[in-house]
Amino acid sequence: MNGRWISSPCLHFSFPLRDGSGSFATNFNEIQMSMETKRLVEKDADLKSDDLIVITGAGGFIGGNLAKHFASKGFTRVRAVDKKPLYEWYLRVPGVESICLDVSQEDNCHRVCEGAVEVYNLAADMGGMGFIERFRVECLRSILINTHMVEAAYKAGARRYFFSSSACAYNTKLQEDPHVRALKESDAYPAMAERGYGWEKLVSEMFCQEYWHERGMKTFIARFHNVYGPNGTWDGGREKAPAALCRKVIEAIDTGNKNITIWGDGHQTRSFMYIGDCIRGIDQITHCDELIATPINLGSSELVSINDLLSLVEEIAGVKLKRHYDLNAPRGVAGRNSDNTFIQEVLGWEPNTPLKNGLAVTYKWIEEQYQNRKKGRRVVE
Ligand code: NAD
Repeated sequence: MNGRWISSPCLHFSFPLRDGSGSFATNFNEIQMSMETKRLVEKDADLKSDDLIVITGAGGFIGGNLAKHFASKGFTRVRAVDKKPLYEWYLRVPGVESICLDVSQEDNCHRVCEGAVEVYNLAADMGGMGFIERFRVECLRSILINTHMVEAAYKAGARRYFFSSSACAYNTKLQEDPHVRALKESDAYPAMAERGYGWEKLVSEMFCQEYWHERGMKTFIARFHNVYGPNGTWDGGREKAPAALCRKVIEAIDTGNKNITIWGDGHQTRSFMYIGDCIRGIDQITHCDELIATPINLGSSELVSINDLLSLVEEIAGVKLKRHYDLNAPRGVAGRNSDNTFIQEVLGWEPNTPLKNGLAVTYKWIEEQYQNRKKGRRVVE
């Protein structure tokens, strides 16, 4: 038979149960071990260039870049879906079927998945800290998207299903110090995820794992750590720190007001992954059978404070601004970094674009958008 048996506990198999020391990480995992079953991993036929690839959230930042990636690899049937009207999409990729549909509705999910060989679910109501701390209901309601999408993909007979999870699924108690220990995959349990957004991701991860465990659909789960780059949100309240700081610096230069307001005390630390690394990682993770139903970090391990991030942007822009700190603004956890031991072990690679290089490209793109908007040209923010 063209396949192999693997030990498949319902939540993980193989690597994720280890915490680097070779011992099981939590009692939770031990409980899962007692539920261990076996499932055959059959080798798929190679993906053909005319196999249908479905991407949801494709009017957004990562989904749009993923559609571009598959189209440029020569896949001729890419179906891009988003609830936003087409004129608001960051990227419209020539040759890609672009559909405006709300995939929190079950019927639409079945329509979208019809004939799909691979499904990438990147649709979610999300944004930076300002958004996810304020709109928890919207974030939680994204559970409808994955719930219906994973079922529709299964019913359509899709071979592989990818879910975009987040570092916000990790236990917040481990992130109370800016000098953080990087988060490894087992740190999601015992669970104390970010309220709203993080819990939605954690439960959706579990859905994906069970669709493999109970129903045998190959599912893949990446926990993204802050992604940045061109063709993403840069204004309007959903933008994340790198884009927000780039825009504020551009504004300061443009208006001549050399002051800048930073959310929090500037000592919060994060790592930021360039979009090119994110896309490469999604493709590799989804085509690696060792990672079936196994959440994995997809993030940079280059840790910076928000103050350092601003210094990098200032260096790119050739300006120095007077900093003001808004201690009442949303700031998220004190520190967060990605432990990349596992991804190195499985893929022999980790996101590695230096922050300085990725930021330079991003800054240039946001500056173009800013100038275009000023000239009255239509831009997508
Ligand atoms: P984004 O906001 O740019 O894109 C998400 C897209 O999903 C949007 O265009 C939105 O219109 C669409 N969408 C929302 N609800 C929908 C629905 N019901 N039906 C159809 N489309 C819908 O965000 P992104 O940065 O591209 O994020 C993509 C995925 O990655 C999300 O699941 C997000 O939670 C996850 N993620 C992103 C980051 C990051 O730093 N960008 C970090 C962690 C996780």
